[in-house]
Amino acid sequence: MILGVIADDFTGATDVASMLVRAGMRTVQVLGVPDPQKGALPEADAVVIALKTRTIAPADAVAQSLAALQALRAAGARQIYFKYCSTFDSTPEGNIGPVTDALMAALGTDFTIACPAFPENGRTVFKGHLFVGDQLLSDSGMRNHPLTPMRDANLVRVLQPQTRQRVGLLRHDSVGAGADAARTRIVQLRADGVAIAVADAVDNGDLLTLGEACADLPLLTAGSGVALGLPPAYARRGWFSPDDHAATLDDLTGPAAVVSGSCSEATNGQVARWLAAGHTALQVDPLALHQGTQTADAVLAQARAALASVPVLVYATAAPESVKAVQAALGVQAAGELVEHALAHIARGLVAGGVRRLVVAGGETSGAVVLALGVAQLRIGAAICPGVPWTQAALPGSGEPLLLALKSGNFGGPDFFVQALQQAGVAL
Ligand code: ADP
Repeated sequence: MILGVIADDFTGATDVASMLVRAGMRTVQVLGVPDPQKGALPEADAVVIALKTRTIAPADAVAQSLAALQALRAAGARQIYFKYCSTFDSTPEGNIGPVTDALMAALGTDFTIACPAFPENGRTVFKGHLFVGDQLLSDSGMRNHPLTPMRDANLVRVLQPQTRQRVGLLRHDSVGAGADAARTRIVQLRADGVAIAVADAVDNGDLLTLGEACADLPLLTAGSGVALGLPPAYARRGWFSPDDHAATLDDLTGPAAVVSGSCSEATNGQVARWLAAGHTALQVDPLALHQGTQTADAVLAQARAALASVPVLVYATAAPESVKAVQAALGVQAAGELVEHALAHIARGLVAGGVRRLVVAGGETSGAVVLALGVAQLRIGAAICPGVPWTQAALPGSGEPLLLALKSGNFGGPDFFVQALQQAGVAL
């Protein structure tokens, strides 16, 4: 194994795995901290361990990340990559800072970078400020995220309170000047006592530069974009040769469905487009669930009845005002868990009812669905849009294959659901 990735949520893990596959690295995603009793990690150029640590208590996030690190090191990973969201989702308590500190200490390293840039998806970092498309992070829809509202775009300022170490900036004037200039700047930053440097990157050229400049660091922390620059750097070092078939999955037939628990702007647009096109959809209402006037089983029964003839969307996706009202009534954490639990239960019922092509929208939602399905590993296939590939799992017990697309909230164009299903051979 060359690269061992520790991802703080499930869709983020898939996203980075997709980048690696695209560059010809054979990549397997392992769901949750691997159990050493169950044997070694799978053979691959890269193994991505998908955790669900983005919004849990910092001490838990640290413990799980260290357990994942241990498994990756035992399997011989040459480099470790802590993957977080391209919108740097975190609170002042963490978890990006505390996990980075713990991984650095365990690896005995005094320097790493922090770079959520993913220019193909509109995430760029310039002078330490994160942009989402043409807007500063703090002006984007992320300011209203249900769990990690991001109200400051200056990442040095966002990260510093989360870590005991000094945060600095690897500015674009160095990164833009190529790998040697970036390396030279890194040496200076280290000499100045900077332990974590927020790295600027505004295009794929910058990511290639960072890959080359940072391929020999024990630890990288980043969104998935930085992974674009690593495989070429590894190939130049003679560590692996790209495989043209790294992304091939099985062709599956059978019913298809979409389950959406993301309330991001992009997902709201995707649900609206699905409804406007007149496709079949069922809405999960958190307040009705809480009051018992709606049950997950009733929604599931309706969905299963419709599935025989058409793909079905089951969604809790709602506009920010509606999410706020639900959170005010139930509490932020409780509302999230109630909806995740209901959607995971529905997804499991849909798969039990024969669904073999399933799209899930929402990072936390995907994590909950995959845990409910009991899926342990995903083979990563071709991308539907940047950052979201189809993946193939084996169902526990039967070992039957299931195609899963796990979409992080902000990703995909308005037609993402239709596009994903059509790419998996569903007629719409
Ligand atoms: P994203 O990838 O867009 O951040 P997530 O699934 O990670 O999506 O997070 C969305 C959170 O909002 C989840 O915890 C989900 O259960 C919760 N949620 C979904 N629908 C609603 C709703 N209508 N009201 C309140 N919370 C909701």
